Amino acid sequence: MKRDEFLKLVSIAAAGIQLGFNSKSLILNLDNKAIQQALGLDDSHLVSEFIKLEKNTYQAFSQMKSKAAKAGIDINIVSGYRSFEHQKEIWERKFKHLTSEKKPLQAIMEIIKYSSIPGTSRHHWGTDIDIIDSAAQAPSGDLLLEKHYHNNGPFSKLKSWMDLNSKDFGFELVYTNDKERTGFKYEPWHYSFKPESKKYLKIQSQDNFLKAWQNLEFEGKSYLTDEFITTYFETYNLGINPVLMQF
Ligand SMILES: [Zn+2]
Repeated sequence: MKRDEFLKLVSIAAAGIQLGFNSKSLILNLDNKAIQQALGLDDSHLVSEFIKLEKNTYQAFSQMKSKAAKAGIDINIVSGYRSFEHQKEIWERKFKHLTSEKKPLQAIMEIIKYSSIPGTSRHHWGTDIDIIDSAAQAPSGDLLLEKHYHNNGPFSKLKSWMDLNSKDFGFELVYTNDKERTGFKYEPWHYSFKPESKKYLKIQSQDNFLKAWQNLEFEGKSYLTDEFITTYFETYNLGINPVLMQF
């Protein structure tokens, strides 16, 4: 989505949408574990030492990995769980770098092409994974590039296998190549374990989640108005494979 289109949507949201999460009548429950998990602030639901994952996600992933191994594919996770603190580091590094040349809002629009606003990333949940095929010859440079997953790219065999099999294990592609989809760009490497991630997506839409998010601190946050955030959630967090929104 182009920056102008997004900003137009923001102004539409500002003009017309009643912002539910501004309601003063809501009871703020910051102790709610599920909300803390959705924000990347609690990792007590995660297992595995090396790359942390939500426990059912880990089980399903292990089964999927075994099945793929029989086809000569070595599925490996390059990014699983990411804490709020980690996402904040990524965000602030990009924000500092980009604001040396651009205005803050322009910098933010650049960052959110690929990186989530801290506290809103699906990687906070422990249900989402970025994967590669370690049996393939690793390309030099950045592993997570679209071209590596298509045509004769090193991870094209993995992608074809996932297209056919991932659903059987509960994994769905999140940021599909659907031109009608809004938000983040196409990511052929990012899968989500739907049976668990759908719960966190639901939590994200709740008023008390947004209340809790508003208490978090990171650089550049002051530019994210309520209107911006409302539009961001609609465009980005719901700009996903529709299968993941069927509860
Ligand atoms: Zn990812």
